[in-house]
Amino acid sequence: MVKGGEYCAVMTMTDESVSAERIHAVKDDLAAAFRIAAMHGFNEGVDNHFSAVHPARDDWFFLNRYGPYWSEITTDDIITVDFDGNIVEGEGQWDVTAFMIHRGCHRAHPHARVVFHTHQPYATALSITKTGLDTRLSQNATHFHNRVGRLPYGGLASGEEEGTRIGSAISEGQIAVLLDNHGVMIIGEDVPQAWFRLYFFERAAQVQVLAQSTGDELVRMTDGVAQQAQAFFDSEVHAPGALFAAERRREELLRR
Ligand SMILES: [Zn+2]
Repeated sequence: MVKGGEYCAVMTMTDESVSAERIHAVKDDLAAAFRIAAMHGFNEGVDNHFSAVHPARDDWFFLNRYGPYWSEITTDDIITVDFDGNIVEGEGQWDVTAFMIHRGCHRAHPHARVVFHTHQPYATALSITKTGLDTRLSQNATHFHNRVGRLPYGGLASGEEEGTRIGSAISEGQIAVLLDNHGVMIIGEDVPQAWFRLYFFERAAQVQVLAQSTGDELVRMTDGVAQQAQAFFDSEVHAPGALFAAERRREELLRR
């Protein structure tokens, strides 16, 4: 078990059994996730960031270099960074808040293999409401039932302390953290799973904001039904891969 904020890197030597193809595949998926997110309007200009732990080392992670628009990101824009901030592979610079936030998460939680951070509009809108995401309001929201954390805003994550605080906000079993007055952080075991969660979080947030904007009284399902639906989402183990593959095909078509 890993406690929030506890330094717990388990593999600091390179695992030579991990193939170069496997390493490239993770980078390729990560780069595609940026382009797909841009296609959905989830990016904040050239800011915000996605990361994935290097398949052969727990203390290295892939991160987007600062500068490119998300729709133009390729594997060449993905840099490999160690926990000291050294760029061990690739060219370019990391954004300071990107490095601090993602190091904080990966260092505290080695199981958080992939971390996405965005200011996508509907999730961010809910981050400034007291309720946040109400996971009993829609079927899509049940995916996150009892699995969303919240963290008060602590200013820009320009130093180690704030990055560590954000990393520490992830509790066991949580797959998303609403960063108050700021945005959202999504955790996944791989890129397709993180994308699946990012996508459905935004869709659930969008529906909630629209429903609340009617001013009408909202209908909530019971806790038991929400739990049941959440378990079903979790059992759909092939769904993230299917969605991500479809998103990749669509993004490729639109780029032609
Ligand atoms: Zn941010």
